[in-house]
Amino acid sequence: MNISDNLIKIKAEIPAGVKLVAVSKTKPVEDILEAYNAGHKIFGENKAQELHAKQPQLPQDIEWHFIGHLQTNKVKFIIPFVSLIHSIDRMKLLREVNKQAEKVNRVVDCLLQFHIASEETKFGLNINEAVEILSSEEYKKMENIRICGVMGMATNTTDESVVRSEFSNLKNIKEQLKEKFFGNSDYFCEISMGMSGDYKIAIEEGSTIVRIGSAIFGAR
Ligand SMILES: *Cc1c(COP(=O)(O)O)cnc(C)c1O
Repeated sequence: MNISDNLIKIKAEIPAGVKLVAVSKTKPVEDILEAYNAGHKIFGENKAQELHAKQPQLPQDIEWHFIGHLQTNKVKFIIPFVSLIHSIDRMKLLREVNKQAEKVNRVVDCLLQFHIASEETKFGLNINEAVEILSSEEYKKMENIRICGVMGMATNTTDESVVRSEFSNLKNIKEQLKEKFFGNSDYFCEISMGMSGDYKIAIEEGSTIVRIGSAIFGAR
């Protein structure tokens, strides 16, 4: 199947309230254009320089999401146009996003990334670290970022029950933070979870944003 067929098939499976981020990392701009021409406008990349290089070559109404580990010295490349940064995993990064966003007079939407998988290699906060950030005076003074929810990646395993419980845990974290810090903030509502191999489970567990790459664009 080609990119547009894959996209149409996946879109038909996703409920109306769930946003699809088409993950185009490593793929050429021609492939992104094919998906765009099939009617899709939300794309995700995981490397700042790659996104910085592709963005000017593509239609300006694309909504770009940043989904990968972000080094502080690369933040400036994406801040002028990025729609949502899914991968805030430390205070230092949030501080730099706020600083660069202030320079271009933007408020940039962000998600806190949580470590929910059993693998050691995946980045992310635990609940205590998130509470520490959100309780700090420094965070409360940041005017150029807005935290809209949480993101996480499940363990790469065929054991569905493991994946399901990790997603359920992420939803639980989101609800705890909502109650403690965002009670009156309707914008704190997003749960970014689910990739090509596990998005159906993620949606059953309450995902509001799925990030799907290889099932749309083919293997990398
Ligand atoms: C690559 C990537 C995806 C998409 O993975 P697929 O398995 O190709 O769907 C989703 N989220 C993140 C953070 C990624 O790096």
